Amino acid sequence: MRELILIKNGEIALKGLNRNSFEDKLIKNAKRSLAGCGQFKFYKAQSTIYCEPVEEGADMAGALERLQKVFGIAALCRAAVVEKDFEAIKATAAAYLKDTLRAARTFKVEAKRSDKSFAMASPEICRELGGYLLSQYPHLRVDVHRPDVTVTVEIRDFGAYLHTDQLPGAGGIPVGSGGKAMLLISGGIDSPVAGYMMAKRGLELEAVHFAAPPYTSERARLKVIRLCEKLLPYAVSVRLYVVGFTEIQVAIRQNCPEDLFTLIMRRQMMKIAERLAEENRCEALITGESVGQVASQTMQALAVTDIATRLPVLRPVIGMDKTEIIRIARQIDTFETSILPYEDCCTVFTPRHPKTKPRLGDILKAEERLDVAAQIDQAVREAEVIQLCADWPRQEEII
Ligand code: ATP
Ligand code: MG
Repeated sequence: MRELILIKNGEIALKGLNRNSFEDKLIKNAKRSLAGCGQFKFYKAQSTIYCEPVEEGADMAGALERLQKVFGIAALCRAAVVEKDFEAIKATAAAYLKDTLRAARTFKVEAKRSDKSFAMASPEICRELGGYLLSQYPHLRVDVHRPDVTVTVEIRDFGAYLHTDQLPGAGGIPVGSGGKAMLLISGGIDSPVAGYMMAKRGLELEAVHFAAPPYTSERARLKVIRLCEKLLPYAVSVRLYVVGFTEIQVAIRQNCPEDLFTLIMRRQMMKIAERLAEENRCEALITGESVGQVASQTMQALAVTDIATRLPVLRPVIGMDKTEIIRIARQIDTFETSILPYEDCCTVFTPRHPKTKPRLGDILKAEERLDVAAQIDQAVREAEVIQLCADWPRQEEII
């Protein structure tokens, strides 16, 4: 029996003239996400993308699971392909849905006839197919309001398709259709969630992590790589820069007042992130900041950080409670990694009494005594680059 996956476009169906390029982007991302599941071909018609295996033994269940994380998909389902002949449709429905129908108590049939040349109208298809399935599975009852199973038959351009309930897609818009941004990723809970949220809005992600060896450990670095891996099913690919930040932090500690450490450090991070962003055609920075969460995330502190870069700073979790952020972190499976206890460079150098209402004047004055231009150049030049993509060789349990 021929099977495929029907992909229903989400928001992209609304994008008018851009629709084609959005769909093409979605198909490209979907193809990449199926690496390792076998060979699939993609084609499209009537707001639907068809994803069909071209070889025996393709991993359909795996493909379905992967596609559920690809942005731009509203809903999807695994379906059997039948010729547009009612006898064939009946026979295939009874056989293909055997397990599901046996396990159900109630069902209904839904028909969608987008090929109007098909001789039977939708109500007739429902009635006839429903009657036939009842005769084959006499334990079933019809329930049109709350059925255990909805058997759907879609009569479309290229054939008829049979399936049961659709699965929800990830929503959003296809990654890459909104350009590229640089995510500042710590080992914490918030920044991976921020990256996920912007990928959902169509941004391709690059990421930068500031490490301060020997104050921060190799495990902290591996933890961030693992977090980027966890983002991969959504972000399609992530290029991670690991930047050595120790010398800059030490210079800040030696030259600046302690209560301004965190903010001055954050501003240097912004400057380095901006340099890497511009070298790689990223048009914005992304952080996991949320108003009021910690001292460096007051309105005044955010303003001082913003001024350190010309690029827009996207902060998708800015108005979210920690509990809301954690809910998403669990959903995308970054939470358990984020709470591993390895020290971040910020934690190592946290002042005892950080300023919550910094004045830009004080910060700029303090920075006059800080000459880290050469160290910043060097940090950018020597950043470690790690390119992660769908067939990236994951190493389980390295941390
Ligand atoms: P997170 O859970 O993302 O670490 P947080 O609530 O702990 O956030 P901070 O430590 O104040 O907040 O960091 C605020 C933001 O600054 C982070 O969300 C992240 O975008 C960025 N950031 C902090 N530390 C680093 C780092 N070592 N490397 C890259 N970005 C960082
Ligand atoms: Mg943090």
